[in-house]
Amino acid sequence: MSTQQDNIFQAIIAHAKEYGFVFPSSEIYDGLSAVYDYGPYGSELKKNIRDYWWKSMTQLHENIVGIDAAIFMHPTTWKASGHVDNFSDPMIDNKDSKKRYRVDHLIEAYADTLEKDKADALIAEMEALLAKEDFVALKDLIVINNIKCSISGTCNWTDIRQFNLMFKTEFGAVASDNPDDNIVYLRPETAQGIFVNFLNVQKTARMKIPFGIAQTGKAFRNEIVARQFIFRMREFEQMEMQFFVRPGTEGEWYKFWKEERLKWHLSLGIDANKYRYHDHVKLAHYAKEACDIEFEFPIGFKEVEGIHSRSDFDLSQHQLYSKKKQQYFDADIDPATGKPYGNYIPYVIETSIGLDRMFLLILSNAYEEEVIPKEDGTNDSRTVLHLPAKLAPVKLAILPLTKKDGLPELARTLMDECKNSFKCFYEEKDAIGKRYRRQDAIGTPFCVTIDHQTKEDNTVTIRYRDSMKQERIPMDKIKALVLSEVM
Ligand code: ATP
Repeated sequence: MSTQQDNIFQAIIAHAKEYGFVFPSSEIYDGLSAVYDYGPYGSELKKNIRDYWWKSMTQLHENIVGIDAAIFMHPTTWKASGHVDNFSDPMIDNKDSKKRYRVDHLIEAYADTLEKDKADALIAEMEALLAKEDFVALKDLIVINNIKCSISGTCNWTDIRQFNLMFKTEFGAVASDNPDDNIVYLRPETAQGIFVNFLNVQKTARMKIPFGIAQTGKAFRNEIVARQFIFRMREFEQMEMQFFVRPGTEGEWYKFWKEERLKWHLSLGIDANKYRYHDHVKLAHYAKEACDIEFEFPIGFKEVEGIHSRSDFDLSQHQLYSKKKQQYFDADIDPATGKPYGNYIPYVIETSIGLDRMFLLILSNAYEEEVIPKEDGTNDSRTVLHLPAKLAPVKLAILPLTKKDGLPELARTLMDECKNSFKCFYEEKDAIGKRYRRQDAIGTPFCVTIDHQTKEDNTVTIRYRDSMKQERIPMDKIKALVLSEVM
């Protein structure tokens, strides 16, 4: 990452804190590493992103329904899913600084300092070795390239080992002779809550294949390298959808969801050049295809969402471990045989996006330190968040020019008319320019000023955040105008 990119990233983190978007968790105790709290504007923005996703899944697709499963699940869930045995990252420790690195992160950070061709070749080699789980050759790759620890500056590395990322805790108050009896895990992904409810949902909502189940909720991972703000957290939120399909059709549905998900991102008006796909070389043994949607964060192109063709792995595993059939009866006629397709375990296409990571995407894409030329030749400046109006925490700021002459009363009438439909903010304090700047900093798309002329002709001044253009329009047109942009 260049110094300039790093400065922008640090400025975004500082802005997020100063304006009540994101705070370090339990900050008065110096924070907790890789855990964050969302403040007044952050929690609104996060909720709006979640709602936008939820609506796109469960309202705009007739064949997708939602659930809200518990964070705690029966421990066998995680044996069946493979997380107990396999949910680990290859790690390496520097013997001098004692700092632990995820191997892929260490090599990727080094690749960022190389020319593009060399970087691409190094990443390709790393991915091939990761795919083979050849840890000896991976360590050689680190040593041959003389990749150093950023703290000690040495190349004195341990061997590579696997480290499980699940948090464990004890369940219930009854002591058992076998301590393993009481262990439960904090779920490391929301997906398993969907798989174990597959038949409950299919039967009660009378779903026919192909159909999807969507869920948003917290997930927990004991990440080793916990830095980069809310990009990589130990407690975070996911928005996942599992789409169940007839075996043999998974290729076309994978393609469909790969395209559909990118369309969702672009529907927020974000520049398509900031996105790219990364097709996986390293596939889980059960996976048929997988890709990431990557975004150009200030810290470089990074994954924001994964789309995975998972075969019938998860449902088959749950059938095996629970001894309960996870089959679906498909009454549609197979043209090849002229008979119903019959019973089978469906195949699954998964779309999985981190809500916090999407929040960071939206925030970093919106952030601008803008220089504004003035008429006298000097420059003014402002910090503005060009948030999509649909996602902005506050949609409309209502600002009476003065605290007297009946202007607050008029402003309150507009507030009462609008506040039931979208989030408004009312303020009388300070010069109007200062009030505009504060709204720019939290990304409010519209400000309305009520002045003395409003009393005469019922018009107000509306100011648009991005262009800073101002125009007079009748007060009774405001609500419809804002609604047309934010819905
Ligand atoms: P990464 O390679 O970045 O660790 P992953 O491939 O392990 O991510 P998945 O298991 O596919 O991620 O999870 C799906 C999505 O959940 C990711 O695309 C990301 O947006 C989000 N996510 C995963 N881990 C974290 C985390 N520690 N903090 C915040 N978001 C996360």
